[in-house]
Parts: sequence; C-alpha cells; structure tokens
Amino acid sequence: MEIKVNKNQTRTAIYVRISTAQQKTDRQVVELKEYAKSHAITIDEDDIFIDVISGFKNGEIRPQYSVLKQKVEAGFYDQILFSEFSRLDRKPSNLLKSIEYYQSKGVHLYFKKQNIWIRDKSDISTQIMVSVLAVMSQYEIELFVARGIDGKITAIKSRGTNCGGFTAYGYKVTPVDHKLVIDEEEARVVQRIYQYYDEGRSSLYISDILNSEGIPTPYRTRIGESEKKRKAKGMEAKHYARIGACEELRWRPSSINRLIKNPLYIGRREFTFFDPEPSNPLPTHKRQGRKLFQQFVTQSEDLRIIDDALFKRVNDMVKEKAFNRNLGIHRCNLLKELLRCGECGGNFSVGGGRAERKYRCYGTLSRCDKPRTCDCGAELTMDRLDGLVLNMCINKFVNHDIEVEASERIASAKKMIEERQSVISEYQQKMKDESDRFSSFVRRVIKNAASDDEANAWIAEERPEYEVRINEMTDSIKRAQSDIDMYKDKIGAYTKMRRKANLVSRQKQLLEDRNLVREYVRGFISKIEIYRASRLWALVVVKFLDGGERWGTIKTCRYKNSEVVVDSADPKKIEYTGIFVNNDKHLLNYDKGNKMVSINVGHDLHNGGSNVENVPFEDFMLRAKNAGYAGSYAKYQYERL
Ligand SMILES: [Zn+2]
Repeated sequence: MEIKVNKNQTRTAIYVRISTAQQKTDRQVVELKEYAKSHAITIDEDDIFIDVISGFKNGEIRPQYSVLKQKVEAGFYDQILFSEFSRLDRKPSNLLKSIEYYQSKGVHLYFKKQNIWIRDKSDISTQIMVSVLAVMSQYEIELFVARGIDGKITAIKSRGTNCGGFTAYGYKVTPVDHKLVIDEEEARVVQRIYQYYDEGRSSLYISDILNSEGIPTPYRTRIGESEKKRKAKGMEAKHYARIGACEELRWRPSSINRLIKNPLYIGRREFTFFDPEPSNPLPTHKRQGRKLFQQFVTQSEDLRIIDDALFKRVNDMVKEKAFNRNLGIHRCNLLKELLRCGECGGNFSVGGGRAERKYRCYGTLSRCDKPRTCDCGAELTMDRLDGLVLNMCINKFVNHDIEVEASERIASAKKMIEERQSVISEYQQKMKDESDRFSSFVRRVIKNAASDDEANAWIAEERPEYEVRINEMTDSIKRAQSDIDMYKDKIGAYTKMRRKANLVSRQKQLLEDRNLVREYVRGFISKIEIYRASRLWALVVVKFLDGGERWGTIKTCRYKNSEVVVDSADPKKIEYTGIFVNNDKHLLNYDKGNKMVSINVGHDLHNGGSNVENVPFEDFMLRAKNAGYAGSYAKYQYERL
C-alpha cells in the first residue's frame, strides 16, 4: 500500500471499536469528533477507523486497527484519539506494550474517558499514567471490580438502594439517592390484581380489565422512562424487535402470573451476585457456570404492598391452577403425576375414550410440533394399573398409624374452614354496605327528582353497576362456601379413617373412599416407574417415600384366559394375574438396556452361586412365579366410584 506522507500539518486519527450489539452511529465517534472540534484538531472521514466486533473469538480480529498501525508505521499520523483505554487493548499488560509502541513512534495518544494525553517520555503526567498501568495487574483490576460489587451490596443492605435492571411494577427509583420506593398509583393496580385473583378471577379476566381501563403495562412505562433518559443523553431510541412498538403493549395473562409470584410485594428482595470476571469477554447473560459471589435476602416493610396471608393464598391458587392445567388431571385420575417412563424418563399422559382410559408415555406421542422421543414406552389401561398399584400398596396404607395422621389432617381442614368463613362474613358485610348505599341513593333520588319518571331513569342508570357488584360478591361467597363443603367432606373421610377396624374390612373401607385412596397414594408413593420389560409385560416399580420398593408386572395387551382368575360366584369379577415382589432392600435391579434383572445375594429369589445373578426378565418372572410370588389383582375404577 502506498501512503503519501504530508509532514506540514498535524495529522490526527480516531480509532473506535464497537460491538454489533450497539447502534452503528455510536456515540464514541460523535464525542471524539466534538473533542477534536473544540480543540481545533482537524479530522477527515478517512482518518476515522472503526472496527465492529461481532461476538468474541479468541484473538480479536481488528482489520481497521491493522490499517491504522500500517499508517502509523509509515509515519502518517501524529496523534490518535480513543474513547478509553480498553479500546486500545483490553488487557493491561498489552495496553502498556501498545502505549510504549506509539511512544517509540512519536505518536501522541488521547483517551477521552480518562481525559488523558500520553505524549513522549518527558511529559510528567504520561510518566505517572504509564507507571500506574504497569503496576496494576489483572488481579488488582479484578479486585477493584469486586470492591465495586461489595460497595453495591453494602448500599443495598444499609440504604436500600436499587441495583439497576428492570424496576418491578409498583415501584420506582428515587432520582437522587437511587432508593427503591413504592409508586402509589402502580401499587394500587398491584393490590387490585391480587384482590381479583383472590376472588377467583382468571389472569385472562384480570388482563382484560386492565387493558380495557387503558392502564399502561409495566414494560410500556419502563421503556418510556428509559427512552426519556436516552434522549436526554442524545442517544437514539432503541428498537425492540421482540416486543414491537411499546404503545401497543397490552397486559397478558403471563404478565399477571409473573407479577403475582414476585415476593417483593411482601417486602422480600432476593439478590444474587456472581463473580464479576472483568476479563471474560462474554456478555454476562451468555456466561455459563458463573461462580456465586454472594446471595442474600432483605426484608423491608417499606416496600410491602400485599400482606403475607393474601400473598400466600393467591400463590397457592396459582400453583393449584398450574397443577390442574393438564386435562388428565382435570378429569380425575389416580396416578398420573407419579408415573415415569422407565425407558425415556418422560411423564405419562392420560387419554383414550371414556370406555377405556389409558396411561401412556408422553414420549410415544407424535405430533408435528413435538416429534416422538420414546420408542418403547408403555401404554396401560388405567383401571388395571390403578388396581395393580393399589394391590401392591394396600397393606402399607392400612398398617400405617392412621390415627395420628387423621387428627392432624382434621385440624388443618378445620382451620381452612375457619378461614373461608371469615372471608364469607367479610363479603356479607360488604354486601350489606353496598345495599345500604344503594337504598340511601334511592331515597335521595326520590326526594330530589322532579318526577317519578326522572327518579326511575336515575335509578335505572345506577342499578346495573350495583347489581354487578352484588353478583360478584355473591359469587365469591358461593366459592368460599363450596370450599367449606369440600373441607367438611374431607373431615368426614378422615374421621372414618380413624375408626378402628380390622385389616380386611379397613382395606375394603379404604378402597371404597376414593378421596382417601388418593390421599394415601400421595402420602406414601414417591414415584412409579414403568419399564417395557418384555414384549408383552411391563415392569411396574413402585417407590415409596420411606425408601421401600415393590415390583409388580402388568400385561401391556389383552390377558389370556389362563392369565385371569374368575370368581365362580360372580363371573363378572375378574382378577388379573401377575407377580408381586418385595424389593425394600434394593437387592433387585433392572437393566433396561439388556432387559435383565440382577438378583443380589440375600433376596429370596437368589439361587445361590455368585453374589449377583443376572437373568433375563422372562426367566425372572418364571422364577418368581415358581417361588410363589404370583398373585392377582382386580381393576380399580377410580373415576367411577
Ligand atoms: Zn417413554
């Protein structure tokens, strides 16, 4: 490259490094141009070197910087303007080398942020600067940043300052001391949201109300504020591709759900700080496995918008709703949440017609948006698997010290009833106030209206709104009442459970009360794994919360006549055969890859010889059958009880 050198005037260059994440018209260039102008330094467009760094690979590639260096090498420039040290080099050690290089070429450097000129070695401020840089090692720089975090944490803990980021809805940050405080107007909206939810309104309903009232969404307010700040600094408006124009933002059910879960509304602030790692070039959100620096929680009543009881109640409702979202749960079933596919680790779905409902590994479903992920997951008839599992657990359930459990549950149900009753009386009072207000309004109208027609018109105008409010309150009362009925039913079930009965009749009694059965299943079983152990049989491993384990088998297809037991007195009563093996000591292990069972010494099915016997699953079944572990179980029609 041929470079003409004109030594008659001082030639100045600007070097700028920007990331693609930033706007093209970066402020660095503008600021440096302004500086040059105010100091009578002329700069041509050719003298501006811009490197756009996309992502961060090892060893930055800076093509424009190379061009600049070539020109410096040719003696083309006398001085270069940078916006800050890091634009010349990120690493302090390299920075020092670069500075020494330019000094040797007689090129002066200016850094805008530090507001410092580095000239030749005779210049005293240059000497100081360079020696400071030489002393500052990477370690010290990191320490320096860490001290910055320490200061931030101290400020949060002692003065309740905000720590940047998105300010939660319902709060604002004071301009001078950067404290987080309640924004009264937004706080009222937050209270309304919790109130509505508590009354049983859906998030969709709540977002519709807020949208219809034109209440700005959290994002809209915050983006508006940040735009104002950017404008004040002379920066261009940011474009938010993902959310579109902020005027069009609307409240969504997801915004309501997110808001409801924020513990800040009960004054609880949760903080997590990671090690800053200033030398890591990745942006913080892309880093993985970051080291925790400090994690803490503060509680400040000044920030409380919602009381603890309401917060807990509403969050319990959210959890309950999320839990019930699956239609399989909505149409009740006994085991779905406990079932795991042993083959793929997936959950089970509930499906099939009303006549024969089935549990089926989710991974075996194939939809266009969710391709099949499990090749051999089982599909099992619901009432048969329910029956098998109950048969495996019933003794455990019955032997449990029912007495203690029941008393505790009765006490907690009573407490729930009390709480709902207080809700009811509160609403009854509100309704009374409301109707008092309306009748006094009617009296006033009758007194002041010129004619009966006019009075009627006024009342007719006011009445619908009054009726809506009364209806809403009536609904809330009805809901609380139905909760009370439900808890009363539960108390009934627990009381029955408490009455002493012998084992067999208690088993029978338990199976007849499906609420109780469900309570027990939840109370005892931690997980049920289903393996497709052979072509026709599935292995059902029931894991109990106390660490115990039972194995059972179930056929994945139709049972042969030889595999069912028919009650001679009642031909409709069919029982299905299978094997039931106790594995409380975990002496049996199933290897799903080879469809083999390893039997450790000490188990009844161990036949002597080596410590661990490995047998194919079919042989294992045969061995268990011969050893007398075969049994039968009846269907359990949980849904139809
Ligand atoms: Zn599966």
